[in-house]
Amino acid sequence: MSPIRVLDRSVAERIAAGEVVDRPASAVKELVENSLDAGARTIGVEAEGGGLRLIRVTDDGCGIPAAEVPLAFERFATSKVATIEDLCAVRSFGFRGEALPSIAAVGRVTLTTRTPDAGEAARIVVRGGVTESLTVHGAPPGTTVEVATLFFNTPARLKFLKSPAREQALIADVVQRAAMAHPEVTFRLVLDGREAGYWPRASAEARVADLLAGGDARVMIRLDEELPGGRLTGWLGRPERSRPHRTGQYIFVNRRPVHSSLLRKAAEQGYAQLLPAGRFPILAVFLDLDPASVDVNVHPRKLEVRFRDESNLFGAVARIVRAALLASPLVRAVPASPLPPAGAGSSGVIEYAGPRLMDSGPLPLVVGTREPQPEYSPAAARLLPTLRPLGQFLNTYVLAEGPEGLYLIDQHAAHERVLYERLMSGLRRGRVASQGLAVPLTVDVTPAQMALVTGHLDRLGMLGYQVEAFGSRTVLLRAVPALGGGNPPDALLRRVIGAMAEEAEEDRLLERLAITTACHTAVRAGDRLAQEAVAALLADLATTEDPYTCFHGRPTIVAVPLRQLERWFLRE
Ligand code: ADP
Ligand code: MG
Repeated sequence: MSPIRVLDRSVAERIAAGEVVDRPASAVKELVENSLDAGARTIGVEAEGGGLRLIRVTDDGCGIPAAEVPLAFERFATSKVATIEDLCAVRSFGFRGEALPSIAAVGRVTLTTRTPDAGEAARIVVRGGVTESLTVHGAPPGTTVEVATLFFNTPARLKFLKSPAREQALIADVVQRAAMAHPEVTFRLVLDGREAGYWPRASAEARVADLLAGGDARVMIRLDEELPGGRLTGWLGRPERSRPHRTGQYIFVNRRPVHSSLLRKAAEQGYAQLLPAGRFPILAVFLDLDPASVDVNVHPRKLEVRFRDESNLFGAVARIVRAALLASPLVRAVPASPLPPAGAGSSGVIEYAGPRLMDSGPLPLVVGTREPQPEYSPAAARLLPTLRPLGQFLNTYVLAEGPEGLYLIDQHAAHERVLYERLMSGLRRGRVASQGLAVPLTVDVTPAQMALVTGHLDRLGMLGYQVEAFGSRTVLLRAVPALGGGNPPDALLRRVIGAMAEEAEEDRLLERLAITTACHTAVRAGDRLAQEAVAALLADLATTEDPYTCFHGRPTIVAVPLRQLERWFLRE
């Protein structure tokens, strides 16, 4: 690194002021970032008593030349930027020269550091901003910073802290976020003398899977796309790994962990309809942009960033996330059941080679059908595996055989998805085809409903409804969307009028009405389906853009993997 200098006042004043160290975890964050800036390959973090008794960060980075050690504790002393131009192109984590002096102002800091070519280490002790000693010690190359009695001279600050356990958790979170973005660095976290985490150098994928998915990379979907002025990479959790809160969301800009509601919302928008309300995806998303198009200097702890072109960025991120999700097979597998009892399974008693699915000829049919069904594999099917319908179960689920094993399809959810996409593609082309009623039907409405209907005749027409006022309290229904549903058209129109009244946002109205139409036209649970209807449903589902979920975010299809079946029958 370049020598440490005190920044010019003009530069210093451009730097966002503010409290850098508001709690132990923010001291840890600053120290870990210093270690990363120093090119460390191994970083150890220890904390005791929630970080108030002790924080120790050890690295094997470049160290500080002995002569510069006192300077590191002066305000605005940094080796990382010198001019305002530098400030616009920061790649390092630190650049304000504020961390060490701020921490030393409110605690007792012992920094021991040795550059690779120095024979011994320099050690400085600074307490409450006052240098207590400067000595020479034996130590390996690298830097160790110990912070003891944090906030000893600011009792007011202590009142804002949470319990030691909570502060400890925040420290762990800081270290995990740093580890997520720096798989090439080994991290070790020790809390109150116990190892709380050890992440040896790994590939980015292995590191993310380790931190986010219990080591199981298969639940993650890879993201890697160019976007205007940068690149978006990372991993998206499969929808079934969603959580009821946002704890599993990690967002980085130029490898800096950030709270960006813009990016978070964009990513979540990419999951639209893939998750039910109140569920949040897990994800680790890395946005790399030209430093000149990001301002990291808007928040004292650099947790927030500002982008030059926010609306384009939002759209690009949402689109990329959506495309990655829709391009990967998202059929949910039933969760693994407990292992079979001891003694069963691979004891050698049960010899079983297992059938080879799809090439072993038709299996015996399960329910509903007597004749083997033709395999269905339309040219347009991009995502859904080839499925052979077996029949209907409880008149609610379609059973099918496919490459993973047994598939269950929720007939209502699947049909809803098919009809919804058909309506939306009709709307994109201009209007949805209508199907005239042999005899027009009348629907009684309130004056408020009449106003809604007459005010939206054009929208209803686009969706395939032909409606007209018939007196002041009755509307006449002449045609409905041509979707081939068997449900009473007047009941359908009543639902649509109800949805019109509920949707407050005018520009979401068409989609809302399409959803209502699909929902109340689709076959229901309990409807008995003819064989051809079952086959047609699978064929139609395979051609949808998102065959895996209905628009409420519920799955349309789940798989019972053959492995799982064999386990249930103690065949493995
Ligand atoms: P900043 O990181 O903003 O430059 P700091 O107060 O955090 O400011 O650190 C001041 C300077 O001390 C840094 O610019 C760097 O030169 C040096 N320094 C701090 N920590 C380390 C470390 N772990 N290894 C090597 N140099 C360090
Ligand atoms: Mg720093």
